[in-house]
Amino acid sequence: MKDRTMELYTDDIEPAYVHSSLRDTFKKLGRKLNRYLAREFGITFDYRDLEIGRESLPYIVDFRGRRIGKVLGLYTTNGRKKIDIDYNLDYGEVMRTLSHELVHYAQDKLGGIWKKIKRYGRMARHYIERDAETARKAIFESDGSGVKNALAGA
Ligand SMILES: [Zn+2]
Repeated sequence: MKDRTMELYTDDIEPAYVHSSLRDTFKKLGRKLNRYLAREFGITFDYRDLEIGRESLPYIVDFRGRRIGKVLGLYTTNGRKKIDIDYNLDYGEVMRTLSHELVHYAQDKLGGIWKKIKRYGRMARHYIERDAETARKAIFESDGSGVKNALAGA
C-alpha cells in the first residue's frame, strides 16, 4: 500500500503538458511553490492536472481600438487547468508571468478563486488579481510569509 504522506509531499512534478521552452523555468518555480505549500499548508502539487503552453496572446485595446497593454499570461480552469504564456517575453517576464499564473493555479486548487467569486461576484477578479500579485511577490521573491489567505481565503 502506498503511504499517503508520500503522495502529499512529492518532489515529482510532471504537468500533463509543458511547452519545451518553459520546462526548466517551470521546474524551478513549481518546486519553489511546493516548498512554500509544504511549509504553510502541509501539501504539495504534482501538477498532473495542469497544461502549460505558449501562445500569441492578444493586445488589450481601449474603446478607440488603441493598444494599451498586452496579455502576457492566462490561467483558465473551465474543464481543464491550463496556463498560457505569451511567446514574445524575455526571461524575466517569463519568470514573473509563469509564477503569477502558478499562483492562480494554487488559488484555484486551494479554494481562493471560488471563495472570492462567491463573496465578490463580478468584482471577484479585482481581488483574485490583487491577491495573486501579493502572493507571487511573497512566495517567489521573498520569504513567503503572511499570504496564506491570498491563496485559500476570500
Ligand atoms: Zn492574473
